[in-house]
Amino acid sequence: MTGLDDSKVRLFFAVVPDAATRERIADAAASLPLESEARLVPRNNYHMTLAFVGEVAAPQIQSLQQIGGAQRTTAFALRFESYEYWPKPEVVVAASRTIPPPMEQLWQQLHRDLAEQQWVLDAKRLRPHVTLARKVPQAPVLQAMSSFEWLVRDFCLMRSDTSGPQPAYTVVDTWSLLDNREKA
Ligand code: ATP
Ligand code: MG
Repeated sequence: MTGLDDSKVRLFFAVVPDAATRERIADAAASLPLESEARLVPRNNYHMTLAFVGEVAAPQIQSLQQIGGAQRTTAFALRFESYEYWPKPEVVVAASRTIPPPMEQLWQQLHRDLAEQQWVLDAKRLRPHVTLARKVPQAPVLQAMSSFEWLVRDFCLMRSDTSGPQPAYTVVDTWSLLDNREKA
């Protein structure tokens, strides 16, 4: 039933990179040694998932927007410092091993609020990452990654259309994180 029902949309909360961060991610992806069957993620698809909700009936989107709009976390910076190969989904990701407290707080609160509204998610823990390549059947020999910082100032509710050869994501709604920076 899921995926075939046109009245449903596939939704997830995520962070979308700003233009400069998108370039850093693309640089990291371009340095990957990949076999021909592997697929680099198109740069417009780069994102960091916070909570995958799944198939949702249109009238329920509003309740997800309310949850997004209720978050009160400050902006945070993440440092991405390494490639990781994840054998089960057969992907190479850029990963951040240090989770800033506001990001952990956002993740926890989002999942608590979703559970309270009867959205049952199977998320176990937050693993900040951006998928760079898919269909990578065997672990590539990964070099050190040029690390980069990603300043996260907002997050989105995204719609995913997985019917094409590449998933197409569109932003349904965006919320700013609170500004705690006094830097000039
Ligand atoms: P495709 O499914 O066509 O390979 P995709 O995985 O990017 O593309 P979605 O399946 O819609 O597209 O997933 C959207 C985002 O949510 C992706 O970052 C994906 O890794 C993540 N995601 C999907 N399913 C889950 C899940 N069960 N738990 C956690 N994250 C998930
Ligand atoms: Mg998927």
